[in-house]
Amino acid sequence: MANPDFVKMISLGEWLSKFLDDDISKWHFRELAKEAVDLLHADYIVNPENKFLKIIESFEPQQDLSLIKSLERWALSQKTYHTTQKLKRESGRNDFYDEMEYYDIDRAFAYQSVLHLINFRNRTFDFMKGLLKSDSPWRFAIAQRLSDRNPNNNLMKIDFIRDLISFYSTLDEIFAIKGDELKKIVVFTLAKKPLTGVSEREIPPFEIMLSRILFDFLSLGGQEYYGFCDYCEKFYVVQRKGRKRFCSDICRTAKQRKSIK
Ligand SMILES: [Zn+2]
Repeated sequence: MANPDFVKMISLGEWLSKFLDDDISKWHFRELAKEAVDLLHADYIVNPENKFLKIIESFEPQQDLSLIKSLERWALSQKTYHTTQKLKRESGRNDFYDEMEYYDIDRAFAYQSVLHLINFRNRTFDFMKGLLKSDSPWRFAIAQRLSDRNPNNNLMKIDFIRDLISFYSTLDEIFAIKGDELKKIVVFTLAKKPLTGVSEREIPPFEIMLSRILFDFLSLGGQEYYGFCDYCEKFYVVQRKGRKRFCSDICRTAKQRKSIK
């Protein structure tokens, strides 16, 4: 029978590979949140009516662009928008307030939160690459990195590692009354104040989920069971140790075809 720790390690790795996928779509956030809750046995419900997820799912990416690129472009257009408004105000034009009505603060907040998450995702991607290049076991590699005097000269960003570590402890076992019983449950303990109509509580705590999943994956031996595809650069998990070069047969063939040309 398969070792349950091994099975767990592979499922955690598979969650990571979805989180780190470049082709992440607006529908993935709900899936990722639900799967993380299951993996971590957390007492957290991803409400079907969750306002944050609904706003993200209603985002229309530009046809020729990925979700990530579309959101980045959106963020840029917001900057331009604010600058234009400022110029109009300064030049004394009075159509400023008319246009303000179209500005939806909840939507802006939700998009910004996803952009923030995508940035976190990029750091995770680089971190895992850095770890793969390092010859030391992850616990030593991280400790060494944190005492490094040169903060910029590495894929493994020091601030990011510190954040990851501090997020780990914000998922905790507590006792609580559930129905008519005192039960031990696992909860996200990082309380945040709502800033807008979309409360921060509605945003699934992806950073905490990621921190748990990543460190649990590594603790269970994951360092020897992942890689990045030589063709498409995707993060992948393997069931057997040893260097595999491609995430799929499609990429293997594509690479071969390219090298023949
Ligand atoms: Zn690939």
